[in-house]
Order: sequence, then C-alpha cells, then structure tokens
Amino acid sequence: MKKLFIFIITFAIVTSCSKSSEQTKQNEELINFLEKVEQDNELLNPVIYSASWISSNFITHDSQMVLSDYSKRSTLDALQKSKDASAFNNVITSDSNRRKLEILKTAFVMPPPFDDALASELSKIETKLSAMYGSGKYCYSENDCNDLEGFESIIDKSRDPDQLKRAWSGWHEIGKPMKDPYIRMVEIGNKGAQDLGFSDLSDLWFSKYDMPSEEFLNSIDGVWEDVKPLYEALHCHVRDSLNNEYGDDIVDIAGPIPVHLLGNMWGQSWSNIYDLVYKPDSKESSYDVTNIILEKDLSEIEMVEIAEDFFLSIGFDSLPKTFWERSLFTKPLDRSVVCHASAWNLDPANNDLRIKMCIERNEEDFSTIHHELGHIFYYQAYNHLPSLFRSGANDGFHEAFGDLLTLSITPDYLKQIGFINQEQAEKAKDDAIGLLMKQALEGVVVVPWALMLDKWRAGVFKGETSYENLNNSWWEMRNNYQGISAPDIRAEDSFDPGAKYHIPANTPYTRYYLARIMQYQFHEALCKSSGFDGPLHECSIYGNVDAGKKIISTMALGRSVPWQSAFKEITGSQELSGQSIINYYKPLKDWLDIQNENRSCGWSET
Ligand SMILES: [Zn+2]
Repeated sequence: MKKLFIFIITFAIVTSCSKSSEQTKQNEELINFLEKVEQDNELLNPVIYSASWISSNFITHDSQMVLSDYSKRSTLDALQKSKDASAFNNVITSDSNRRKLEILKTAFVMPPPFDDALASELSKIETKLSAMYGSGKYCYSENDCNDLEGFESIIDKSRDPDQLKRAWSGWHEIGKPMKDPYIRMVEIGNKGAQDLGFSDLSDLWFSKYDMPSEEFLNSIDGVWEDVKPLYEALHCHVRDSLNNEYGDDIVDIAGPIPVHLLGNMWGQSWSNIYDLVYKPDSKESSYDVTNIILEKDLSEIEMVEIAEDFFLSIGFDSLPKTFWERSLFTKPLDRSVVCHASAWNLDPANNDLRIKMCIERNEEDFSTIHHELGHIFYYQAYNHLPSLFRSGANDGFHEAFGDLLTLSITPDYLKQIGFINQEQAEKAKDDAIGLLMKQALEGVVVVPWALMLDKWRAGVFKGETSYENLNNSWWEMRNNYQGISAPDIRAEDSFDPGAKYHIPANTPYTRYYLARIMQYQFHEALCKSSGFDGPLHECSIYGNVDAGKKIISTMALGRSVPWQSAFKEITGSQELSGQSIINYYKPLKDWLDIQNENRSCGWSET
C-alpha cells in the first residue's frame, strides 16, 4: 500500500515537473513568436504604409498595383499570425504577452477562413461590395443620373419634399444588388471567426473591449438609457418644426420622422436644418468662423498651425519637421488624390507623421483639422511602445481626442486667439441655446445611430435576423432607436443598409458611439479638475497644462493596458456614462422642455 502511495506521489511529481517544463518551453516559443512579429512589423510596416501613401496621393495604375500586391501579402501574413497566436491559447504567460496575442487574434474585422477557395471568394466579395458603393449611381432616366455627391447635394439643401424623397430613394437603389453578396460574405466571415476561436463575427467584433462581449454590449445599452431623454426632447422639437414646415400629410406629429427631411442622406446629422429648428433673437449673436478665416485670409497651413498651437498650449511636443514637409494639405491641381481626410503614422521609429487632407477654408474643415491632429498627437505619444500596443486604448479613444478639443473651441477661446473681440464673445455667450443647438444636431443626434448600426450587424452576424427580414429589421431598429422612418414603404428586394458606406466596407461603427460618449466624459472631468464651475459648454482647456498632462499620459499607454485603466487616468472612473453629455446640454434640455410643454413627445416602438 505504502509502495503504491509512493509510486503515485512520484508519478504526480514527475508529471507536474514535465508539465511545468513543457509550459516553460511553450512560453519560450510564445516569446520568440511575439519577438518575430515585432521585428516583422518594424521592418515591413513602414514600406507598406509608404506604398499606401503613394497610392492615395498618386492614383495611377502602377501605384494601385503595388499596393494591392502588398495588401494581399500582408493580409495572408497577418492571418497566419492570428492563427499562430490562437495556438498559444492555453499557455501560461505574462499579462502583457497575453494582451499581444489577443490583439493579433482580433486584428481582422472580416477574417478569411483557413481555406483557400473560401478566402479568395471572400476577398472578391469584399472588393465587389466596395466597388458597388464607390461607383454607385442611379438613373431615373437616361439623362437623369446621379451618384452620391449628386443626390447628397439635393438632400443637404432642398426643402421640396418630393425632390428630397426622389433623391433619397434614388441613392438607396444601390443597396439592392448588395444583399446576396453581403449575406454570403457574412457566412464566410463567420467561418473565419470560428477558425480563430470565436463563436461568430459579432463575438469577434465585440471581444476587443477587455470584457466579455455580452457584458460590453449591455454596458453600452445602459449608456444610451442615460442619453435617451435628451434625444427624445430634441426629436420632439425637431419633429414639431418639420411639421410646421411641411404639414401633417408629410410629417405625422406623433410618429417617427421621415428620414429624407433631415438634411442628411442617413439622418445621422441634422445640422443642415438648423435654421428650421432654431431662430435666434438677433442675427448679431452668432459669429461665423468661416467668414473669420476668410477675412483674416488664413492659409490652409496657417489653419493647421492654429490647431497645432492648441495641442502645444496644453504641453504636447511640437510636430516634427517632416510633418510639415510630407503632409498633403491642399488639393493638388495636377493629379487626382483621395481627398477624404486621414492621419498617418508611417514610420514610428522616425516619427514620420502626416495628415492627408484637401483643406477648404471653412469652419467644418477647421474642426476636422483638430480631429486629425488628435490622431497625430496620439501616435506621437505612443510611438515608443512595441508595435502591437501602438493604437488607441480602444478604437473609440482614437476618435475621441480631436473631438474633445473641438468642445474647447468656445467664444472665449476664439477671443484668446484673436478670431473675435470681447463684445462678439459676450454676445455669442448670451445665445447659449443657439450654440448648443448647433452642436446637438450633430453630437446628440448621432448617438442612437452610432449604436444601432452595429446592433443591426450583430443580429445579422449571429443569424438572428432572417434573410427575408434584413431590411425590415433595419427600419425597426431605426424606428426604435432614432424615431426615424423610411419615406415610403420599402420594396421587398430593398437592402437599405447597403447605401451606408460602413456596411459594404465592413467598418465597425461602435467606435463612433464610444468616442461621442467619452468625449463629453473627458471634457467634464478635465474642466472640473481644473476648478471650472461654470456651464460646461463655456469651458475651454486651451492652455491648461494639467489637463494636457492627463491626456498625454493616457495617450502614452496606447493599448498596453485595458482601456478601463486608461479611461481612469482622465476621468477617475472606469465606467462609461451618458451623464456627462446630459450635463453638457443641460441648458438646451431645459429650453427644449419649455418648448415641448404642450406637445406629446415620443413615438411608438415596434
Ligand atoms: Zn478620425
């Protein structure tokens, strides 16, 4: 008996010994693997980024060919690395290494399966869907054709309901042929996600947030509950204004708002109908940043310098010389370029940072420059980290910082930089409702939209939405979250989600939701900790070095820690909350409540 006991003990020791040596060996392999990934990234990424920069700045047959070759190879390589990373799932290692592996595993939004035929089918469908969107146009007759730009120019400006409906419906025709390829793409993508160890694409997409995906989805729903009363009050007032403009036949005073009347193709920003929903007491109260830029005759580069100065005023290091030499600031006359504004981190070892923008001298682009520089200063702050950690704490962070600064473009700030005088600043501050309304038609309106878009996708990815119900479920969600309806009964073969870029292009959208929420939490926390106790929309962090220190130290963490820890650096909390956006718009909400007193607000949910 004793002998047997000794044997068992020995056996147990032996196995545990061999287990631990096996573990050590596996951990060593893991470390070597991660080192190799880092080396490859340092060596190859700058070249791939250069190829990509050239292809966006010099659109020629050859530049596209070089990029497509690089992309194909680097996708295959990245897929192999995701797969290799999954092989270490059960190896015990440091938190930091585990994090790097998870980052590699979740690098894809639409992962190809480990099957060559399916992988190439997927890539073909993705290219096809992008091209269908990019070259999308609709002809009502031979000489009556429009692309997105053409239809948008009507939607954004017209006040003729029939013309608006026609333009909206015309653009949405482009979705129809996308339905079948989109569903096939999801089918293959789900298989790819499963090959990497996720239950489906939704599980993959929402596993990037340092908490179980279901928990994350519940937490973002909770935030929406906070914001909803503000949105509903705004909705109620806007619906009433549109009813006054168009009458009961077109705008049901108790129902959802028909999307084509909102001044934007997707009804995601309502700032183009500002004049219908708000009439200031006197015209003088508002200043026009576009006019100021033109009057001062600021060049495009001077606009960027003013934005850089904001970052420098709160303690950031100035941008490298190469930023000014290599960025694209204005639309070249001699060639076509991709004008969509973007921020680039081409070669972190040499701090090669650039923006690419065709700057127009107006208020919108002045804001966009701040947004893009938010990305650039983020890169600069985390470029010392290993490549896998060089990104935002989560994808919302990267979008949030530039927008955070635009909340600080207050009348007082504009006075400080010599854009307006004392008297103009005082007058503008007197019309707080005008200022807040302008912001809310963009910043509050986008919140339910940015939430519902990926909710719809999650239903499709998880197979909860049937093929027959794809378009209906889209409109059900738009009704329930946004109180918005289609202008007419949709045809059975419609696929309206396809008419929004991010659906055929597979760009996740939750990041914009997070950014919109976090931006106000950051703003409130930074203003409060610097002792500001006035209304939040009057607070500017310009020149506030303490606020800057918090932003810089948060940025410097990159993605090396769970986002909740980075979030805490600025806000002192780990929780997302809609309370800050509510606090920010408090004066507007009070005003809306008075306007809405005798109106019946809300709409019925389906
Ligand atoms: Zn951005």
